[in-house]
Amino acid sequence: MIKSFVYTSILVAGIFFVNLYYSAQVLAAEKGHSDSHKHGEKGHSDKHEDGQKRQLDSHEHGVSVLKIAAEKNMIEMELESPANDIVGFEHAPENEKQKSQINKALAIFKDKKGVFMPTPAAGCKITGHSAEFESDPSSGHAGFHVKWKMSCSNPSKIKNLSTSFFKSFPKAEEIEVEVVSDAGQKEIEWEKDQNKIQLTLSK
Ligand SMILES: [Zn+2]
Repeated sequence: MIKSFVYTSILVAGIFFVNLYYSAQVLAAEKGHSDSHKHGEKGHSDKHEDGQKRQLDSHEHGVSVLKIAAEKNMIEMELESPANDIVGFEHAPENEKQKSQINKALAIFKDKKGVFMPTPAAGCKITGHSAEFESDPSSGHAGFHVKWKMSCSNPSKIKNLSTSFFKSFPKAEEIEVEVVSDAGQKEIEWEKDQNKIQLTLSK
């Protein structure tokens, strides 16, 4: 009788532990799976999100970063701006007014006239763009991330880049411009009192 009770207890305990062990395995497997799944699925965009977070953490209010990459007749531009410079706050919108401020800014970035315009004689046209507002509650910062793609019929005619950015967003003070093109690598400090900067993208 006692023997059988002990045996049953051990059996029950055994089943319990096996179950526990099994659940833990499944959990671990699920966790592992969902992690690797995420990475596999998002790959590039994960990288981008990490980069964006770093950018939000480390950005300096008043200072935007504009990366320009040019190859042949294609130009890609990527702008990172602190949301404080664009809409005056750095958190997710809390009311209709803030939502509309964000939407207005996004509309300016997506305007087909563009925000950064190369010399008109170069015949550059925007062929694609994306603009998003991103907030990072853990750092208390938020920003705008904008990309433009351009195609230019005569890129050798590019002598400068003009902008409506400082006019549209008076809180912005400066843009750090990083250019990579056939003409090499260049960094330009663009202060708000300059409507245009000199820019050459071919040798
Ligand atoms: Zn900030």
